[in-house]
Amino acid sequence: MSECTHNCSTCSANCSSRESNQIEANDLLAPQNAASNVKRVIGVVSGKGGVGKSTVTCALATLMNRRGYKTAVLDADITGPSVPRAFGLRDVRLEGSELEMFPAQTKMGISVVSTNLLLDEENKPVVWRGPVIAGMVKQFWTDTCWNEVDYMFVDMPPGTGDVPLTVFQSLPLDGIVIVTSPQQLVSMIVDKAVNMAKLMNVRILGIVENMSSFRCPDCGKEHRLFGDSGIEEFARERGVPLLAKVPMDPELSSLCDKGLIELMENTDFDAVADAIENATK
Ligand code: ADP
Repeated sequence: MSECTHNCSTCSANCSSRESNQIEANDLLAPQNAASNVKRVIGVVSGKGGVGKSTVTCALATLMNRRGYKTAVLDADITGPSVPRAFGLRDVRLEGSELEMFPAQTKMGISVVSTNLLLDEENKPVVWRGPVIAGMVKQFWTDTCWNEVDYMFVDMPPGTGDVPLTVFQSLPLDGIVIVTSPQQLVSMIVDKAVNMAKLMNVRILGIVENMSSFRCPDCGKEHRLFGDSGIEEFARERGVPLLAKVPMDPELSSLCDKGLIELMENTDFDAVADAIENATK
């Protein structure tokens, strides 16, 4: 076992200080459904929207599913749910009774729950206030029969408001992956996500810089459209691993638009899946 660094969010040692923090945090955890056995829960977070958080969530779920793990996605981005679309679950609606819900299944067998799978029309806006949305996310966890799941990925709403706070408090997160893009004001916006995880005593598995560069489909060369983001230095200073720099890949966004992300051949996320697998063995 590694030695304690006195920072539970980045340290993997299971010492007495982590255990006492966990006892306090566990008081707020919501119970799983009696029919669920979710073994590991990984949150995918971002400081702001549009950086590719949902794409990263779906790509990681696809990779873990390919590696033979029973995989699920809980789409907690209630007002901007894009997970069903990436998996081609457009005309699918969740089934259930007044007491419980059953996740939808993607073509490759990933279980998915999302608000868009409950609405009559996917274009209808969800105009609920924060506490109602937070309650909905909690219900996605407590009232869904998830059955056996090795890895659940939670697509968190961007930012550090009510709903991310509810997820941090009520779901037993094994760790989070922070997604950023080079256009973000990294030091301020990502710091908020890093600090929230530290405050909530949730382990940060690492950072993914998405749309880091543009990979030309014609010549294969990578171009840094936004110059140097300084993400390496940022990650080093905070003691958080930089897991991957993922280029802008037109093929990936086209697969998402067509609902075919499970066919992706992109290998840029492999290192992130490796890190998750290693950290949660
Ligand atoms: P967020 O969840 O952070 O709001 P999304 O995952 O919905 O962001 O991504 C926003 C848009 O960017 C989508 O159209 C998605 O297909 C596209 N996108 C995300 N990552 C990449 C990438 N690496 N290459 C190309 N397009 C991407």
